[in-house]
Amino acid sequence: MNQFTISEISKFTEGKLFSSPNASDEIITNIVTDSRTFFAGENAIFFALTGPRNNGHHYIPQLIDRGIKNFVVSEKKWINSKASFVFVKNTTEALQKLATFNRRKNLYPVIGITGSNGKTIVKEWLHDLLSEDFSIVRSPKSYNSQIGVPLSVLLMNKNYNLGIFEAGISEPGEMKKLTKIIKPEIGIFTNLGDAHQENFESYEQKIEEKLQLFKSSEKLIFSVDNQLCKKKITRFCEEHSVTPVSWSLLKNKNVFLSFSAEKKESYTKISAKIESKKYAFKIPFSDSSSIENACHCFAGIWALTQKTDLFLKRFEKLEPVAMRLEIKQGINNCLLINDYYNSDLNSFSIALSVLQQQAAKGHLQKTVILSDIQQTGIPKPDLYKQVNQLLLDWKIDKLIGIGPEITKYFEVFSVRKECYSKLIDFEKSFQKENLKDSVILIKGARKFTFEKISALLQQKTHQTVLEVNLNALVYNLNAFRKLLKPETKVMVMVKAFSYGTGDVEIAKMLQFQNVDYLAVAVADEGVQLRNAGIQTPIIVMNPEEHSFQNFIDYRLEPNIYSLELLQAFTKTVSQNALEEFPVHLKIDTGMNRLGFKTESEIQHAISTIKATRWLKVKSVFSHLAASDDPKMDDFTKTQISGFNEIAGNISKQFSYNIDRHILNSAGIERFTKYQFEMVRLGIGLYGVSQTGLGLEHIGTLKSTVSQVKTVQKTETVGYNRKGKVEKTSKIAVVPLGYADGLDRKLSNKNGSAFVSGKLAPIIGNICMDMLMLDVTGIDVNAGDEVEFFGSNISISEIAEKAGTIPYEVLTGISQRVKRIYLQE
Ligand SMILES: *Cc1c(COP(=O)(O)O)cnc(C)c1O
Repeated sequence: MNQFTISEISKFTEGKLFSSPNASDEIITNIVTDSRTFFAGENAIFFALTGPRNNGHHYIPQLIDRGIKNFVVSEKKWINSKASFVFVKNTTEALQKLATFNRRKNLYPVIGITGSNGKTIVKEWLHDLLSEDFSIVRSPKSYNSQIGVPLSVLLMNKNYNLGIFEAGISEPGEMKKLTKIIKPEIGIFTNLGDAHQENFESYEQKIEEKLQLFKSSEKLIFSVDNQLCKKKITRFCEEHSVTPVSWSLLKNKNVFLSFSAEKKESYTKISAKIESKKYAFKIPFSDSSSIENACHCFAGIWALTQKTDLFLKRFEKLEPVAMRLEIKQGINNCLLINDYYNSDLNSFSIALSVLQQQAAKGHLQKTVILSDIQQTGIPKPDLYKQVNQLLLDWKIDKLIGIGPEITKYFEVFSVRKECYSKLIDFEKSFQKENLKDSVILIKGARKFTFEKISALLQQKTHQTVLEVNLNALVYNLNAFRKLLKPETKVMVMVKAFSYGTGDVEIAKMLQFQNVDYLAVAVADEGVQLRNAGIQTPIIVMNPEEHSFQNFIDYRLEPNIYSLELLQAFTKTVSQNALEEFPVHLKIDTGMNRLGFKTESEIQHAISTIKATRWLKVKSVFSHLAASDDPKMDDFTKTQISGFNEIAGNISKQFSYNIDRHILNSAGIERFTKYQFEMVRLGIGLYGVSQTGLGLEHIGTLKSTVSQVKTVQKTETVGYNRKGKVEKTSKIAVVPLGYADGLDRKLSNKNGSAFVSGKLAPIIGNICMDMLMLDVTGIDVNAGDEVEFFGSNISISEIAEKAGTIPYEVLTGISQRVKRIYLQE
């Protein structure tokens, strides 16, 4: 995000600052509004927001204990001398004022999106379509509220050149505030539904309120296919001198853009006409809302760039936006459509159209599991009559209603039906056999927790997976942060596919947790992270000359370890005419791997850097060879003191501050004192501690039993007949082999797996794609889950048995093993 000093924040929020004089120019780089998502850093400021259910002020003492030093408050009694306080009338408004100021400072184009449905999808798709050509800052997830919008806009800084933000309102008067903050040059009005109708007098009022967002926009994109919208928006554009970018899918005349869509089974061909010029593209969806969203995106790209040819191909690669409508394989040949984030009529219709499409593909029945309908101004009896009409229109075979209200209107429904006033009643009476060969739409408002139904109906996976628990990752990160001084920076090593756990998801989580640096091995890994939207600074440990241009293009910071590398990299930077490009100097203090080793090399490097304006030394570092080994502590200390001396000598010769770092995970645990300004966390984050630090395991390697069979005393199991049994035995076959990364040294009872609550030894040689377990005396059936490491077997244990180190066990899990991420 953008940086402010605390006194600037006080000024821009029109507050009064209470702080010690030298604290007033402290730089703030992180805004916190949710006390749960805060971890460390003096550079954070907490806005104590107040709402009907929560008062952020109550967390202040606890946050002070956890190291926060800056607060924005609206209740005087919390102000004390332990921290700096900005006192304002209203903390939400203060946040909005700060965001408004930040918007004024960042004058690149912003696309603002509002409407009842599709905001997040249009935003995400525009991002996907434009991200090769723009550096985009956008609302995280669906941050579109009175708090979400300012937090999004505060992310704007000079690293970007395009903003895409969504705005949502639930009552009159709200949009005016968001308009000032977003100030979009280009507007997109997605559509109008009945969500949040209850707080508005009429549709007209709701449109008018939403249109406020575009009062000072240059262009406004909208569809004329809804008559009411057409009239209102056209008039609005005239009144406010906004250029209308109107479009139609229904051959309406007098539009700027006319589209026509030709739906196929799994994709849609869309053609667009602007004046007399024609364009054609395809999207991998065939439901009406996706087509509508794609039209908005096309119009958006045109409004922004006036050229769309470049982008046409990219429409084919659009993906469904996660966390909405997801489709999963269910039990008994069922298909599940999970849509349990809201339950208004409009999104219900959209979901029904998806249901229809999926059912047609597989000749399946249609079942709807529906909660009470929320967020609508329609009187209840009419509302449920409308629901019934929709069910009839879409020829739904069966309705399962869950909730007190829908149960109350049971009589209204004229399809096959069951109703339960509580979820638990449904769960109790649920019998697997009753649902088969059907597409099941699971549709409910968040509070009905319909994800439980999905879990009940979902097919257990018959595959080997590495389950990665992101909460445990955060837990481990904080366990290390607690050892450190709050101001010490943390670089997290995400090299080698984040030690085998996966790259992008892990990096996203780390970015969210505000780690200071990410480190990768080669530039390609860094490029991949940048392409996934990671903005955290990235250091590349092995910069290779052929990839230098990527460093520049993707803002990757090289580890400079030799004079040759220094010269070559300087040349690339100067060719790009970039000044003060950040680099990191590696000193070899005894590892005898990469690094400057002799005094004359180091001195030469320093004079080279000092003589140019192209580079800036961000940090000096070294790597410990044996930080985990108490027998080598004398050597480790020699490395540290050598580093201290060299780093000091380097720092002396520059006018700016240079960070120093030498500790890896074991180093942080065992030599905490030498944390300098930064540390480099690796294996510890992934749950392996050298000193018994209480960490959580983050990865579970698991599979399922494919088959169980009996083997007689005279028989053997597997290749070369290595698996000998001493008595009649029960054998379980599991689809996990050495090609998945399980070390073959675990064969022949050296290793075990955890199944049905017991350890079962691996019998015979591990095969390429399979292995066999001796499950004699254990109650095991095909389909049962088997754990290879996780909460019952630790990675360190496996490493020891295989004669290797935990690092190799983790990084060895092959790419074909699917990574699944768990959170909360
Ligand atoms: C991999 C690596 C680390 C992290 O080491 P861990 O033992 O996993 O904590 C730190 N520094 C450098 C230079 C590395 O290559």
